[in-house]
Amino acid sequence: MKWITIIALFVTFLSQSQNTSSQLELVDFQKAMVVILLDESSNEVKGEILFDLTILKDASSIFIDAKNLVAYQAFLDNKEVKAIYDGEKLVVEAPFRASDNRQLKIRFTSYPSKAMYHIDEDNDRIWDQVWTQGQGKYTSNWLPSIDDMNDKMIWSFQITAPGSKRVIANGKLTEVQPAADQMIWNYNMEKPMSSYLVALAAGDYQVKRDSSVSGVPLEYYYYQEDEKKVAPTYQHSKEIFDFLEGEIGVAYPWQNYKQVPVKDFLYSGMENTGMTIFNDEFFTDELGANDRSYVNVNAHELAHQWFGDLVTETEAKHHWLHEGFASYYALLAEQNLYGNSYFQAQLFEYAEALNEQSSKGNSTSLLDAKANSLTFYQHGAWALHALKDEVGAFSFRESVTKYLLRNKYQNVTTASFLDVVAEVSEKDLTDFKATWLTSEVFPTAEALRILRKQSVMEQYLQLAARRISTFEESYNSYKETLQKPVEMVLVKEMVAQLSIHDNDKKYELLQQAAALNDVEVNQLIVLSTPTLNNKNRELITSMLNDASYITRESVLFLLWNDASDKRAVLESAKAQWEEMNSSLDMAWIVLALNSAGYTNEELLPFLVRLQAYTGSEYSTETRTASFDYLINLDAMSQQNYTDLMNASLHHVWRFYENARGILKAQYKKENGQFFIDQSLGNFDTKSQERLKRVLGLKD
Ligand SMILES: [Zn+2]
Repeated sequence: MKWITIIALFVTFLSQSQNTSSQLELVDFQKAMVVILLDESSNEVKGEILFDLTILKDASSIFIDAKNLVAYQAFLDNKEVKAIYDGEKLVVEAPFRASDNRQLKIRFTSYPSKAMYHIDEDNDRIWDQVWTQGQGKYTSNWLPSIDDMNDKMIWSFQITAPGSKRVIANGKLTEVQPAADQMIWNYNMEKPMSSYLVALAAGDYQVKRDSSVSGVPLEYYYYQEDEKKVAPTYQHSKEIFDFLEGEIGVAYPWQNYKQVPVKDFLYSGMENTGMTIFNDEFFTDELGANDRSYVNVNAHELAHQWFGDLVTETEAKHHWLHEGFASYYALLAEQNLYGNSYFQAQLFEYAEALNEQSSKGNSTSLLDAKANSLTFYQHGAWALHALKDEVGAFSFRESVTKYLLRNKYQNVTTASFLDVVAEVSEKDLTDFKATWLTSEVFPTAEALRILRKQSVMEQYLQLAARRISTFEESYNSYKETLQKPVEMVLVKEMVAQLSIHDNDKKYELLQQAAALNDVEVNQLIVLSTPTLNNKNRELITSMLNDASYITRESVLFLLWNDASDKRAVLESAKAQWEEMNSSLDMAWIVLALNSAGYTNEELLPFLVRLQAYTGSEYSTETRTASFDYLINLDAMSQQNYTDLMNASLHHVWRFYENARGILKAQYKKENGQFFIDQSLGNFDTKSQERLKRVLGLKD
């Protein structure tokens, strides 16, 4: 009796676990043909997905992951069959026989709450942009599919969208057909991928085309009005592509490579197969590119096309096979562009951060599924660098190539990689594994030992040790640092150290450093200058037109703070600058609002311009800065409060967290409460409920 109960329980448990996690042994999904319609004025997704499946074991049902469905029907080989939906999964009931090939079609309507995002910049309730994010969010939120990344299938997409929009998806564009005021976009893939890599973007896009040395089509997407920013944003793209393809030693595994900027993206970038989606905050002119370059993200997402997309982890504990590799190969691409010193200094910076994490007791092993991103990315990159040091560059390269070829279009574990390395190098990797993969602390001493093999790092570490020396003790080293051939890495370290010293002779050194005409060195000099004096005024003033918005903003502040005629400083700076970005413009306005010398009539349009920056057409970063300025100036308008409440409901975590904090604080003030109550009426019932919860008016 007892036994029977236990066995019965066990069987139930097994069948449940099969249902909730994986049905890999039951059925092999081979192809997925997606046909969808994007509604112009809502987040509705309507359409069908047709799967080709091979049944591996007899079964009475199979499931499809599906969330947010409002309508569904299932057809097996074109005959409607019973489907049960529980909000998470669609269970299709039919007799499935081993080795049968079946076609399963799901007709559906979904209203995704995440994984697909509709961006309405002008609040006219017609979206301007749609984009998706599968990893971490699940594609099944908008498209019934298989979340398990171990089931790879060959995808095709037919997407109908408003005729004014360009639609971009994974694969090769085979046909665009007009249909009334809409367009139908057809994309086909040839090789299989996991569903978290499914991507689509629709919006007002233009494209510039190029081709890699190996002949792979490269497509750079941009917004119509941003044509001038294409060159600075996508700088080095082709070089990075050609370099990585050569360095990895395996031909780029997909039909083409597209890069698509999107508004209000959740992260920096996402390596969807053949189609990287990236945050349009990286879409900048030349000055902006010096402040925030897309190069590292560009190389990182491209590297994922092999590490993550071609070979995919079986489960999260092997996540470093994605992020560690992508981070390391991005660094190698930067080494190719910027030189070895830059590369070594980056590795040192990673090691410093990892060492700090370890010493605070916050580190985990690299193979811990719950490791944080610092560990998966930077520690992962370091593990590869150390492995290369251990087995030699030649073996390392050959191993990576072999590992990719052996496991292409499949799923991998850490052992899949290490086994190949051991085989190729004929080395025992037990110690390496213990030190770099399973240890819960970052092996800082070992990292430093590897870094010190490079003479520039030996010099760098000696200079860095001077952080606790006096100026007199360090003076000769500083002078040597500025002798040719100059290493920028060393100069930057020197400038950072000089900021804490108060000695007249340091200004000579800063002059010489500035004479190197390096944007980053100058920026460091300005950022480490608290006020102007007779020894630095000329030097700092000379940087007002540097090719960096951050430098310009800091110089402007120093000059403004120093001057008696503040209006003259602001007007003169503005006359010299051809372009300003939103951040510099806001800083300028705030200084003007705090300057005597402007009349109220002159100031009013400035304030209106600052208030406009909270609008949804601006980036989340710009909006956040604008809210902060306006709160400090006590100058929030009714519209600003509405924008703040919209921000509190936004999908970007950092943005809505900050907005909610401000909103709650303002609601405690009489004035703020009045405005917020007024604005509440602009929202629909559901949004009002959410806002009331944020304000603590409901639980
Ligand atoms: Zn990544």
